[in-house]
Amino acid sequence: MEYVILAVVIAVIAIGAITGLVVSGKRRKELNKPTQTPTITAPPTADRPSAPAKPAEGAAEPTAPPAAETPAAPVAEEPEAEAPAEEVLVEEAEAAPAIEVPEPTAGRLVRLRSRLSRSQSTLGKGLLTLLSRDRLDEDTWEEIEEILLTADVGVGATQELVDNLRTRVKVLGTRTPDELRGLLREELVKLLGPEFDRTVHSVKAGGGPAVVLVVGVNGVGKTTTTGKLARVLVADGRKVVLGAADTFRAAAADQLQTWGERVGAHTVRGPEGGDPASVAFDAVKQGIADGVDTVLVDTAGRLHTKTGLMDELGKVKRVVEKHGPVDEVLLVLDATTGQNGLVQARVFAEVVDITGIVLTKLDGTAKGGIVISVQRELGVPVKLIGLGEGADDLAPFEPGAFVDALLG
Ligand code: GDP
Repeated sequence: MEYVILAVVIAVIAIGAITGLVVSGKRRKELNKPTQTPTITAPPTADRPSAPAKPAEGAAEPTAPPAAETPAAPVAEEPEAEAPAEEVLVEEAEAAPAIEVPEPTAGRLVRLRSRLSRSQSTLGKGLLTLLSRDRLDEDTWEEIEEILLTADVGVGATQELVDNLRTRVKVLGTRTPDELRGLLREELVKLLGPEFDRTVHSVKAGGGPAVVLVVGVNGVGKTTTTGKLARVLVADGRKVVLGAADTFRAAAADQLQTWGERVGAHTVRGPEGGDPASVAFDAVKQGIADGVDTVLVDTAGRLHTKTGLMDELGKVKRVVEKHGPVDEVLLVLDATTGQNGLVQARVFAEVVDITGIVLTKLDGTAKGGIVISVQRELGVPVKLIGLGEGADDLAPFEPGAFVDALLG
């Protein structure tokens, strides 16, 4: 009997142990379950719009693992589903470019004065420091001359400035910094020819559009200046048509058209390598038809030989003049090229009647004195200056504001 009871107890314990093992096995399985949750919640990739088509029946097993085994895949696919909406937005933005409202031109030079800092620190500050020395001896005057020549003021203008300053300083006797600054300011302004008419002739007195030809060698910033000038004119309330007559430089017409589109100005262009004169002619014709105030023509600036240049530019001018006289010929010069710029100026002046000069890249040079020398060389005023690559970095030139910027 005792044996029987013992056998029953052992049997009960054994059954309990087996049951326990089974239950704990089940629980382990349940605990493992969450790792498989994505298999249940994530729809199969085949149901998603971006999923590739199901393989045809009987096709070889896909090499990629099924989605159920790669829970991260559905998350990675989410942005793809949103992509088309973004594309639509971009397309809409491209389809309707916003027309910009350029900054007013009045006082631009004052606002951009800090761009002349390189010329200011060498030319302006250099002169003021030397002039405020206790004794202005021969050596000091020579140093003053050197500063002026290094800043490209030119020999004639330098001599004139030094002579005038010497006389006036002698007459003045004692000198305060304010008096010296005043003297220097007056003399520099005088050299810049304050009497010049610096208006860009952008309106024709007798009606019809005024025609402005923009000339200069490639790379000086001619196309950029034409684009910026269109903005200057639009800012001043003019209606403008652009003529992309630089048909030799591959990107010039696109570049100009982009500038025009930004301010709502139409660009007339011809085939690449086509006849610049015919594009210029068509631009003026378009300007007349559209009743605009100004037609700005960007010309080709290939300075290969003087005869070649004369042929090209001369023809553009002649052909355009079939519509009426040209109102303005602006020569664009790169201020950083110094004497080389003056050589270009001379050649162009022999070919066309230049009525105004645009000096670009004055923000990148310490040789601000080139404004003085180029005007004296050509007897033509600097009308605009480029002070940076920004769209509104072209300023009407004002001698007083320019000298103030130089003297700091
Ligand atoms: P083009 O060959 O004479 O028509 O020259 P572009 O108009 O293509 O200009 C040549 C380069 O000069 C471009 O990178 C312009 O952004 C740059 N540029 C034009 N004007 C200025 C300026 O006033 N300041 C500076 N820093 N760069 C300028």
